[in-house]
Amino acid sequence: MAVFKPENVEDFYEIGEVLGSGHFGQVRRVCERSSGTSWAAKFLKIRKSACSRMGLDRGSVQREVDILHAIQHPGVVGLKDVFESRAEVVLILELVSGGELFDFIAEKENLLESEAIEFMKQILEGLGFMHSKSIAHFDLKPENIMLSDRASPHPRIKLIDFGLAHLFSPGEEFRSTSGTPQYIAPEVINAEPLSTAADMCPLLSVLRLSGLSPFQDHTDEDTLKNILSMKYEFDERYFSMTSSLAKDFIQKLLVKSPSERMTAEESLLHPWIKPITRKQAAKRNRSSINMKNFKKFNARRKWKMSFNMVWVCNRLASWNLRNKTSSEPDPLEVRPLHSVLHQRPVSCACSPGTAISP
Ligand code: ATP
Repeated sequence: MAVFKPENVEDFYEIGEVLGSGHFGQVRRVCERSSGTSWAAKFLKIRKSACSRMGLDRGSVQREVDILHAIQHPGVVGLKDVFESRAEVVLILELVSGGELFDFIAEKENLLESEAIEFMKQILEGLGFMHSKSIAHFDLKPENIMLSDRASPHPRIKLIDFGLAHLFSPGEEFRSTSGTPQYIAPEVINAEPLSTAADMCPLLSVLRLSGLSPFQDHTDEDTLKNILSMKYEFDERYFSMTSSLAKDFIQKLLVKSPSERMTAEESLLHPWIKPITRKQAAKRNRSSINMKNFKKFNARRKWKMSFNMVWVCNRLASWNLRNKTSSEPDPLEVRPLHSVLHQRPVSCACSPGTAISP
């Protein structure tokens, strides 16, 4: 178990610029005073009382810390230290300076399937390691797949944000409806018992070989319905550049029953990732990613993220203006679907997060 140090984090680290922010706090670059090394510090506000809606309950932060402590793998962000004060917990994490994988890819003019496979392999290795320790991430999405150093000829993947991750105890039945709608498994939407298999569905979104998801429909609601019914098609207009091995890989993940879905370990042995014959290897080098669609998807994803942030900021601003009467509801109590679904599951016997109906 990781130790939560009671000392003041600023005695040991100089606090620098904001690197990013999430629903529960900010991540800042920090410089270790003793060595001059840069790290990332994740500041998480802790709930003052059980009834308060602002901040996180300490138990959920403890779980994130314990999980990070248990996963030491080159594909997963490392945890160095934890500081705790009355109001917040600060996680000192390995600094991941290469930005998001999707932004890195979107800047490219073209990308071969074999190059995309290299990234997918690293994601699967990280996931496979976690799953072997009975840990599921449960919030795999493009924002949480970063690169250690984009200037390197072979950038390394780093999975971040273990706020929704769960360590399964033997025989445990765990349900949660938390997650981000575009990237969740059918069993999450249906509030069924979950397993590490739920992490394999978001990979389909990561696998935007065509620039589109095979489930993609005109609205998010229709896309979710397609996920639930596992209704998909490889439209030739978009998937013509995708190899048959890649489509086979996708189909093995497009399985409604979690126990029949390909696992991370099995995925690493699929011929698309690990070709057996020369012909299979050559095919991967001839196929490419539809960059026009990929760039379009990435721009839309970014727009959606900023829309959610603006929405939350506007609500906070208007609440601050009006909140002189304590009967006003907490501004974050009514949130867009993305945020509602993103609530961390609580450890006590409370109701789970809001589920979306199919
Ligand atoms: P969310 O609300 O999405 O769950 P969160 O509050 O759990 O977010 P993170 O997702 O862990 O926070 O971090 C928020 C952002 O901070 C990330 O999207 C990323 O841009 C940045 N970030 C997080 N960890 C690191 C790191 N180790 N190195 C560099 N930047 C980081």
